[in-house]
Amino acid sequence: MSEQHFNTRAIHAGQRFDPTTGSIIPPIFQTSTFVQDGIGGLRGGYEYARSGNPTRTALEEQIASLEGGAHALSFASGLAAEDALLRGILKPGDHVVLGNDAYGGTFRLLTRIFGPWGVETTTVEMGDPQKVRDALRPGKTKVLWVETPSNPLLKITDIALLDELAHEAGAIAVVDNTFASPALQQPLALGADVVVHSTTKYLGGHSDVLGGAIVVNDDAIREAVAFQQFAGGAVSGPLDAWLTTRGIKTLALRMQRHSENAHAVAEWATTRPEFETVYYPGLESHPGHDIAARQMTGFGGMVSFALAGGAKAARAFAESTVLFQLAESLGGVESLIGYPAEMTHASVRGTELAVPENVVRLSVGIEDGGDLIADLEEALARIAW
Ligand code: PLP
Repeated sequence: MSEQHFNTRAIHAGQRFDPTTGSIIPPIFQTSTFVQDGIGGLRGGYEYARSGNPTRTALEEQIASLEGGAHALSFASGLAAEDALLRGILKPGDHVVLGNDAYGGTFRLLTRIFGPWGVETTTVEMGDPQKVRDALRPGKTKVLWVETPSNPLLKITDIALLDELAHEAGAIAVVDNTFASPALQQPLALGADVVVHSTTKYLGGHSDVLGGAIVVNDDAIREAVAFQQFAGGAVSGPLDAWLTTRGIKTLALRMQRHSENAHAVAEWATTRPEFETVYYPGLESHPGHDIAARQMTGFGGMVSFALAGGAKAARAFAESTVLFQLAESLGGVESLIGYPAEMTHASVRGTELAVPENVVRLSVGIEDGGDLIADLEEALARIAW
């Protein structure tokens, strides 16, 4: 059969029907261990669920296919995936370069867990190639960690350019593709070595499961991370893996609708004086718009606003919407609103990654776009300015 397209692979990659019953949906292998046909006689290579489980394999094959990678490994959360990756490729004395508005949890992991074990992290403005060049220390920097679009200010980084800079310095280029998902952006094809996901977000897509994934082409990186996964044990459980495979089947449709709704919300927001800045890469006024248009096939479902009325107005707005429910996380079918300075990014308060206190972040869902804008309008009307 010829190479299948993304939408076909989203539904079929790794999703073979059950040969014993014909069940079209592969079963959830809710088991911790596998009977052996004599010592070492494994059926399909499965021995114990920490080293492998067929439901997890189904998810890993599906994600690898969608990211265009040779291997994927799935984990209990995005941070568990990041942790296993970093333990697999770093050693004491190594150096990491991270964007200065990366997800706060990534910064926390690097500085508060890996820092005391002798790994140094430098944060830098990823949109300025010279600053990135200056931050890289050839021979010492092992990882250049890129997040684009970034969380929560939706900064766009030129993945191909940054991958080149990383490789010139002998570092591995890692891209956190959580905000775009492989439906909108494929970092490995642009030269990245590793893709990281919080599958909790768009891949799962329904706010009902935590998960993470690593995707690579390089066999040695795969082996190093798989060993950490096996030895450390932060694997995704069978039900979680199954829910994620189910979510992924509708990924492309959802991302299209998330992008349409987010674009409409962002355009509307530019007409409202209450917002002094609207962060959305689909707007031509966004500084990263041209790069985003080149490396993404849609601009995604995340929009942030800076409120002209400052922190007080931002907090009041975040507490005044109804359809946009106040909650952490993103990427589900339902719309969410968050106040990053005290919610998702509370752990980076007082650091160079601190989020301005007048910023609110929207995860725009796939409800009716008109209803979503009406909800935001009503919230503005409710606030005593
Ligand atoms: N990367 C990004 C961009 C995120 O937004 C998050 C979580 O919000 C993570 C990684 C961590 O993922 P998890 O919460 O699944 O551990």
